[in-house]
Amino acid sequence: MIDGFGRKITYLRLSVTDRCNLRCSYCMPAAMRFRPHADLLDWDELDRVAGAFVALGVRKLRLTGGEPLVRKGFVDFVARLSRHLGSGALDEVTMTTNGTQLADHARALARYGMRRVNVSLDSIDPATFERITRGGKLSRVIAGIDAALEAGIAVKLNTVVLRDDNLGDAVALAEWAHQRGASISFIEVMPLGDVEQRRIDQHVPMTAVREQLEQRWTLLPSSKQTGGPARYVTTDEGGTIGFITPLSDNFCGGCNRVRVTATGQLCFCLGQDEGIDLRALLRDDDRTKPLEDSIAQSIQRKPHGHDFEIKERDSVGPARHMSVTGG
Ligand code: SAM
Ligand code: SF4
Repeated sequence: MIDGFGRKITYLRLSVTDRCNLRCSYCMPAAMRFRPHADLLDWDELDRVAGAFVALGVRKLRLTGGEPLVRKGFVDFVARLSRHLGSGALDEVTMTTNGTQLADHARALARYGMRRVNVSLDSIDPATFERITRGGKLSRVIAGIDAALEAGIAVKLNTVVLRDDNLGDAVALAEWAHQRGASISFIEVMPLGDVEQRRIDQHVPMTAVREQLEQRWTLLPSSKQTGGPARYVTTDEGGTIGFITPLSDNFCGGCNRVRVTATGQLCFCLGQDEGIDLRALLRDDDRTKPLEDSIAQSIQRKPHGHDFEIKERDSVGPARHMSVTGG
């Protein structure tokens, strides 16, 4: 699939649920309302969606949510998808997780071919972690990360930086990640859906994170490129650090990805509300070809890039929370 700007689409992020056992303050309000179960794609529908994208040339599949591991049957779904790894049609099946249930499932995930996971970790101070996640237990996440590494799964940490919460934790987080042989990326908060705080009070540019890290290390430019939005540096001790700057530096030119929400909306861009309703197609017709044709044609609608803006009032961004779109 090649979009209207000549970008080859080889990467699908597939959300398997909008539900989560945490309530991170930048992701959703404390009283988040989730979609009724009947609105979510069931495992067979999710499998058909994944199969259609694989047939259309997607090589990398990331499972996300909400929290993928809270949906019953998730590990069986990974087992089911492993046939695409076995056939060579997919290069990798990965996931983004908050890590709280990883300790229970890491070995099984490794057995079914998962080689890498992204774990979101915004602080290694238990009180800060609990405050940002509104009740999460840091020790569970650490146990999950350790279990993944022990099972042979590479771990990349993702940290959303919030001005008054965890900006001061950046050095400690990077040190902690590097001691465990994990890489880490810092991410600017994006205005995706309403949360209880104003986005302008949460947002901090990556230049401020860099300044913190430069008090501890000399940061050297890195040649590492993953095709994703992160730009990497290496510390003078050899650790890798990524910066994802959706607001201060737009990175859409090389975007190779699309997303399918837990309710089956195909989204061409994280920063745009536009999409097409795959759930209706799946439920109206059980043939594969019309589904694949609709996806292939719609790819032309992928926009050139996102248009976020964080302002004193009325920040610009889609109404959909990241937990709905799938991060
Ligand atoms: N629950 C899983 C987790 O937290 O990793 C997967 C879903 S979560 C929505 C995916 C990623 O989106 C996480 O790394 C999270 O930190 C990030 N995220 C959520 N809301 C965000 C926002 N408004 N701006 C930037 N990143 C956000
Ligand atoms: Fe849940 Fe992930 Fe959103 Fe946190 S970022 S509330 S863990 S979906």
